[in-house]
Amino acid sequence: MIFQRCKSVIRLYPSCKFCHKPFSYKHLQLRGLHTSWSRLSNYSYQQFLDQQYWNDKHSKDEKNFDKVLIANRGEIACRVINTCRRLGIKSVAVHSEVDSFAPHVKLADEAVCIGPAPTSESYLVMDKIVEAAKQTGAQAVHPGYGFLSENMDFAAKLTENDIVFVGPNSEAIHMMGDKIESKRIGNKAKVNTVPGFDGEVPTEEDAIRISNDIGYPVMIKASAGGGGKGMRIAWNDDDTRKGFRLSKAEAKSSFGDDRMLIEKYIDNPRHIELQVLCDKHGNAIYLNERECSIQRRNQKVIEEAPSVYLDEGTRRAMGLQATQLAKAVGYDSAGTVEFLVDSQKNFYFLEMNTRLQVEHPITELITGVDLVHQMLRVAKGYPLQLTQEDIGIKGWSVECRVYAEDPYKGFGLPSVGRLNKYREPTHIPNIRCDSGVEEGSEISIYYDSMICKLVSYGDDRKQALDTMSKALDHYEIRGVTHNIPLLRDIIEEERFRSGDITTNYLQDVYPDGFKGKKLNTQESMRLAALACCVRYKQELQSTLFLNQTRIANQTRIPKMQSFKVKIPGVDEISVDVTSAQNQFMVAMNGEQLNLSDNFSLSDSVLAPEINGDTCYFQLLDRFPSGDIKFRYFGTVFTVSVLSDSFAAMMKHMPEKIEPDLSALVIAPMPGLVKSVNVSVGDMVSEGNEACVLEAMKMQNSLLATKTARVSKVNFKAGDTVGEGDVIVELEDI
Ligand code: ADP
Ligand code: ADP
Ligand code: MG
Repeated sequence: MIFQRCKSVIRLYPSCKFCHKPFSYKHLQLRGLHTSWSRLSNYSYQQFLDQQYWNDKHSKDEKNFDKVLIANRGEIACRVINTCRRLGIKSVAVHSEVDSFAPHVKLADEAVCIGPAPTSESYLVMDKIVEAAKQTGAQAVHPGYGFLSENMDFAAKLTENDIVFVGPNSEAIHMMGDKIESKRIGNKAKVNTVPGFDGEVPTEEDAIRISNDIGYPVMIKASAGGGGKGMRIAWNDDDTRKGFRLSKAEAKSSFGDDRMLIEKYIDNPRHIELQVLCDKHGNAIYLNERECSIQRRNQKVIEEAPSVYLDEGTRRAMGLQATQLAKAVGYDSAGTVEFLVDSQKNFYFLEMNTRLQVEHPITELITGVDLVHQMLRVAKGYPLQLTQEDIGIKGWSVECRVYAEDPYKGFGLPSVGRLNKYREPTHIPNIRCDSGVEEGSEISIYYDSMICKLVSYGDDRKQALDTMSKALDHYEIRGVTHNIPLLRDIIEEERFRSGDITTNYLQDVYPDGFKGKKLNTQESMRLAALACCVRYKQELQSTLFLNQTRIANQTRIPKMQSFKVKIPGVDEISVDVTSAQNQFMVAMNGEQLNLSDNFSLSDSVLAPEINGDTCYFQLLDRFPSGDIKFRYFGTVFTVSVLSDSFAAMMKHMPEKIEPDLSALVIAPMPGLVKSVNVSVGDMVSEGNEACVLEAMKMQNSLLATKTARVSKVNFKAGDTVGEGDVIVELEDI
């Protein structure tokens, strides 16, 4: 057989209109990205990262560690490894069995498996980590945050084994890691502390007595607490009794230490914290503040640096108290002194976190200092080269904590799942993504549910927030429920934009819980218009593909198509779409909208210009029923687009009846049933606790939602439940 090479098949392709390289199928696939790339063609994420530490002072001839082990996982492990790489330090990752192929393991130079998935058998086992460090010859261990980072025994154990703990000395951890002790020291060091009882509260009865002495409202807290866990507000004796019990149990299971304290609850405060940096030579400086008032369940979700609230005088006063406290305990690493600031700008010391804080990147971006590098330097014994005068404020930075959690349930209940699709918006200029996941990663019940820290930077607050909005619009996460709808809504919310925020912000702005973005008329119209254009394209595509002979059939496609569109909360709209020359003309409600036809149905982020404004939509799904699912302003909207004739038929379909959920106590998330407090036949009234569910180390009290009799109990203490499982069923009396 003779093979002949036919020269005539070589065709000349036109060049790609975005990158001007010869056009191929790849360009079609990448078109969504290309659209953004073309505008930012000279932007490089790596370059942005490389330039962020412009103020990271150290001596040129300093010799750092050769090898550092990172006793953590996820984003913080990756964060520390990145600095090690930049400095030419070899890195060792430790990991549990389920984390064998996690990004932090791949990023490190070496990795050691330290046990099964549960943290109590891997990341929290000191001996295994010390062993791993010895085995790999690591000279130092960076603990990240959480896990063993504030464990003085761990720091001491490493020192015994001649391994450097990259953090403060264990004495300082001991003094500051405990809220009761740190308050006493704070008082002694003339730092303003929250008024209250600075001792341990042993029993429920004591709790009630002390709460009454302080005067309601009070805050009940676990002395060893962190991450917002083991903490409850009490407004009366009943709250105290319940809060004391739940918080104590939570503290026991999360920190293995259930000592409790009680202090005055400061109403409507701001949470403002000061980053400090100290060395072993008595130098201590502060790197400005971070405003962390946007919190749910006393845990931060959005942080920014600097704070709109502080004037230079207050900043200096707080900075001085922070360094004063650090010096009082001989602090010798990076740490954070947290304050509550009331409406009169009085500030009260809350606690000191003796570790690298989750939200440290915003400080890095406005000061140009690499905090991990400085921690490594001072751990090695070098004095700080930075002085207080070197620390200024350059620009503004905002961090959104992107969590795998459902924002529609209590502003965020943890969720689990696999990241089926995952694309970070690192192509947007001035965005830093600190994450430890990749496409295909599993968000499991074993670890923290944070997916990524999305950090934006700008010359001023407005710029930083606008960039954040855009980044959230371009962030693609599929497979797990996440809190981008809430984050995106807050970033544009009027009160937040004006800087008028307190730790009660979420309750104040969303008194009935977060219900998703509320579209105004213009936004609804734009969504409807885009949905029709998508449907128009879809019809066009199916006609073309069905008939194969494209050109011949082009004439058969009607130039105008009419649809009936339904958006949740808006009446059905009739829409006519006409297409001409890369432009859609959409007529509805007596108005015309012009949309640029710059997207294809395979793009996941659509960025059409609508009447001159660029709008961002994520196209999530298209269903045969005519429903199209979009993410718009972060929230998912399902738009029904039907042809006129189909819509007429749909009118005869029966409506789906929603079941009565008030008769059921449903698990809002996967977890472990700690106790079931009712049995079959019991009478309950609205607000009675039916059971306690432990999920992600939090104790959640599930309540009956009406007065009724218990008809069924489907689970018992010790059982594991999945999201949506019915634990208790009620029947009307
Ligand atoms: P704060 O303790 O004041 O809330 P952060 O916002 O920095 O300060 O929260 C960090 C806390 O969250 C840690 O102390 C820890 O309890 C928890 N945490 C967060 N991420 C992790 C993680 N990867 N592993 C373990 N604990 C974590
Ligand atoms: P954690 O160690 O969990 O971070 P913190 O003591 O730092 O615990 O408190 C976390 C958050 O709880 C604070 O940012 C604040 O919103 C709220 N909080 C704590 N104590 C009080 C208080 N006394 N009054 C009002 N709010 C408080
Ligand atoms: Mg705190």
